[in-house]
Amino acid sequence: MRVILVMIDGLRPDAIARANTPTLHHIIANGAHTLNARSVMPSVTLPCHTSIFHSVPPERHGITTNLWTPMARPLPGLIEVAKDADKRCAFFTNWEELRDLNRPGGLFMSFMINESYNLDDGDRLVTDAALPHLGAMDFSFVYLGTVDSAGHFYGWMSDEYLRQVERADAELGRIVAALPSDAALIVQADHGGHDRFHGTDMPEDMTIPWLIYGNGIRKGHAIQRAVSLLDTAPTVAKLLDLKTPREWEGASVDEALA
Ligand SMILES: [Zn+2]
Repeated sequence: MRVILVMIDGLRPDAIARANTPTLHHIIANGAHTLNARSVMPSVTLPCHTSIFHSVPPERHGITTNLWTPMARPLPGLIEVAKDADKRCAFFTNWEELRDLNRPGGLFMSFMINESYNLDDGDRLVTDAALPHLGAMDFSFVYLGTVDSAGHFYGWMSDEYLRQVERADAELGRIVAALPSDAALIVQADHGGHDRFHGTDMPEDMTIPWLIYGNGIRKGHAIQRAVSLLDTAPTVAKLLDLKTPREWEGASVDEALA
């Protein structure tokens, strides 16, 4: 079993139907999904990602802006737990501020090119880097940052934003086409957005898609329980048979598992 987590930063669930997104529709039809998962407050990228990788809300990990600071009360994150179990983990990202989602020594490989503001090529560069390695990693994090950039540039749900969702869907399609047969794929956002912003507790900012597909996952299942982005790390841990730290507050989305 291996797990690939694809982040489409700032993807609103209602954009999946508004844009032409054949890959996301394929994953929804052939996996388990909810379009009503919850982000955390503040609904800002680095606080959200720190919560995804540590399964605690920002009031616990203390990172409340996109400026990373050391945790006052450190706790093990997903990468530390995976590393302890000798799993190979890889990050492929196009936003440099994500460098501190794990502690030094945790990753087997890391690719970062700071091109999340490059709407034409930013996500393709990440996918290009990730594709040759997905079959050799136990856990891969593939971060596609351009949809969020388009939201900030043009507004959430604008034509330009929806066009960028289509580009991200095409990159996701390349990953699905190359998905190793023993891999489960999680696709989610960190937050949504409204106007040209996010960070509030408005439903437009706080509601995210959470999709899971592939090896060991139910097909065509609409997830009934409430899902939070705190549940991502416990779900990955369950799939990879890792120990779940006591401090983690989320829970594995067991009803998605076959
Ligand atoms: Zn974000």
